Amino acid sequence: MFNLKELYIAKDLNDAYDTLVSSKNNCVIGGGMWLKMSDRAINKGIDLSNLNLNYIKEEEDKFIIGSMTSLRDIENSKELNLEFRGYFKKFLKSIVGTQFRNTATIGGSVYSKFGFSDISTGLLGLDTYVELFRGGIVSLEEFNKMKLNKDILVNIIIYKNENLKAEYESLRLSKTDLPLINVAVSYDEKSKKYNIVVGARPNLSKRAVKASEIISENYNNLDKGLDLISSELDFGKNMRGSKEYREESSKILVKRCILKIMEDSYENKGMDK
Ligand SMILES: Cc1cc2nc3c(=O)[nH]c(=O)nc-3n(C[C@H](O)[C@H](O)[C@H](O)COP(=O)(O)OP(=O)(O)OC[C@H]3O[C@@H](n4cnc5c(N)ncnc54)[C@H](O)[C@@H]3O)c2cc1C
Repeated sequence: MFNLKELYIAKDLNDAYDTLVSSKNNCVIGGGMWLKMSDRAINKGIDLSNLNLNYIKEEEDKFIIGSMTSLRDIENSKELNLEFRGYFKKFLKSIVGTQFRNTATIGGSVYSKFGFSDISTGLLGLDTYVELFRGGIVSLEEFNKMKLNKDILVNIIIYKNENLKAEYESLRLSKTDLPLINVAVSYDEKSKKYNIVVGARPNLSKRAVKASEIISENYNNLDKGLDLISSELDFGKNMRGSKEYREESSKILVKRCILKIMEDSYENKGMDK
């Protein structure tokens, strides 16, 4: 459990940021679920609860999700799940349990850049951006590569795309455990392009760009594309699985997602398989 000298209730984002950078031992508290697993000595824990950052706003072309929104609110959002055909439920439902997801926040989840993250993988399957108080708006892909200075994640922005179909799969040794591999695949029916993302390798989610390209060119390249995933992304071992097991599992999960997307397209268009 962490050790907190003072719980500081921020008055506004400027106040939160100034407090954050005023000492290296000050830190933002989101849901506190990850922080409480650590034995960090924190000087001021900056609470953002009074800043009204708990919302999911729908605009014509995008959704804006405040950083203090719980994973459970996102999982249950009618608007998000309607727009993305239940996708949010698919990648959030396996994270620990309902009570946990009621407390953990999207801001703490994305800012932490966990290698195992279902959330990062799921969001990279969509056109997702991160809004930082000082750093401005950057794509999630860019954010994941950035070396972080102290900053506050304010919003997650997700652009709508009515032509997009997205699927998510993860593999766990047991229910509620961290994933040993997770994948997201989205397909834009207009541009006919696949976007394949693999996380928990055990490193942070990344797009398999070459594999996505070759499968988008021609579905007959599927096996060749799946083989490319392990050459273009780095896989490794940890207590949950070996490098080789992760490589093979990622291929199976990606193929499963692609088949689901295709099946869905056939059903919607009334075509024979
Ligand atoms: C036991 C356990 C099991 C888990 N299993 C999974 C899993 O299977 N899959 C998965 O994807 N995730 C999993 N997680 C991670 C979880 O989903 C959350 O991502 C995690 O708890 C962080 O969210 P939080 O709100 O609790 O953040 P906190 O613990 O409050 O904060 C985490 C970090 O982010 C910083 N932070 C918080 N909010 C902000 C902000 N707005 N701006 C800048 N920095 C901020 C904090 O300073 C801290 O460094 C697990 C976590 C735990 C504890």
